[in-house]
Amino acid sequence: MRSRLISQFVRRLSTSTRLAMSLSKTVYVTRPDVDSSGLELLRKSCNVSTWSQPLPVPREELLRQVAGKDALFCTLSDKINADVLNAAGPQLKCISTMSVGYEHIDIDECKKRGIRVGFTPDVLTDATAELTLALLLATNRRLFEASKQVYNGGWKSWAPMWMCGQGLKNTRIGLYGFGRIGQEIGARLVPFKPSQITYTTRSERATEAAKINALRVSFDEMLTESDFIIVCCALTPETKEIFNESAFKKMKSNCIFINTARGGVVDQQALCDALKTKRIQAAGLDVTTPEPLPLNDALLELENIVLLPHIGSADIETRKEMSRITARNILAALSDKKMEAEVA
Ligand code: NAP
Repeated sequence: MRSRLISQFVRRLSTSTRLAMSLSKTVYVTRPDVDSSGLELLRKSCNVSTWSQPLPVPREELLRQVAGKDALFCTLSDKINADVLNAAGPQLKCISTMSVGYEHIDIDECKKRGIRVGFTPDVLTDATAELTLALLLATNRRLFEASKQVYNGGWKSWAPMWMCGQGLKNTRIGLYGFGRIGQEIGARLVPFKPSQITYTTRSERATEAAKINALRVSFDEMLTESDFIIVCCALTPETKEIFNESAFKKMKSNCIFINTARGGVVDQQALCDALKTKRIQAAGLDVTTPEPLPLNDALLELENIVLLPHIGSADIETRKEMSRITARNILAALSDKKMEAEVA
């Protein structure tokens, strides 16, 4: 009698509810607004729950929701440390971040527990290189500062030296970091005819450098000789705040500093001082500490800076594919297969 009642009840459930009950693997997604194509992939074979707001999930909610899940789909806004892993429990098999940077995840802690970590390199390389060029040109040719004059009445007439910037031709441009994104930035710089592109990394990248005739230089040489410095390295304990007061002091006074890597590579107070005192000419930042930057931050008062809200990879097709790769990494890990991109 009891089993007949149960089977009648199950028959009355909607198809989607029955499907959900039959899906054994559970995934928590920390954002509801990642492109739906990734979520649909997951929903085909997993029971997926998502945070409800288009803002980072509050910490307590994350700790509550991750409990008992097999996989976590996260973004760079989520700090994934031992607290999250403890809250999740020992069944947590993988974490997949919709980003190429993974400094927000405690990788050592994941390794200790055998939790696999997926990320999304390559797919966002072109979009981020393109945005870096856009930011560079907006900064060196003072686009936002000039555009403001059109609206506020500052544009009185064409004037010979008004709103002049520093062109890229015949300049020395230093790339701090020469990985996937750094190399693509370098390739896009060549048509602007710089006199020399240089790069600073731990490892020699002779083959890649030869393609754009880039020269490997020491960090000190990059600081003292560059007209432009573009930061495109990973944020690691070694690169944290490597652009500090001493680094800004070594730069040329006409140096334009661009950062599309992570805010953490810069001592932001030192950068602010260097810009305020015109120690360096200008800066363009897509990334800051913290994010979002508070409206009363001193950087917002400066004229010689262009600030963007971390939109390096924000091109529609790129973000859609990032969502799908993040999902496919989870599906692969849950069935013990090779992920498309897994943190080694
Ligand atoms: P990648 O291919 O791994 O390149 C990272 C580069 O950083 C490598 O050239 C590496 O040099 C260099 N590096 C690491 N530690 C260094 C150190 N101590 N000194 C000098 N160079 C060092 O990564 P990617 O795909 O190009 O991405 C780079 C970073 O861009 C990501 O980690 C992410 O934080 C950031 N990013 C930002 C956005 C955005 O929206 N603004 C979008 C995408 C990526 P070695 O080869 O010598 O290790």
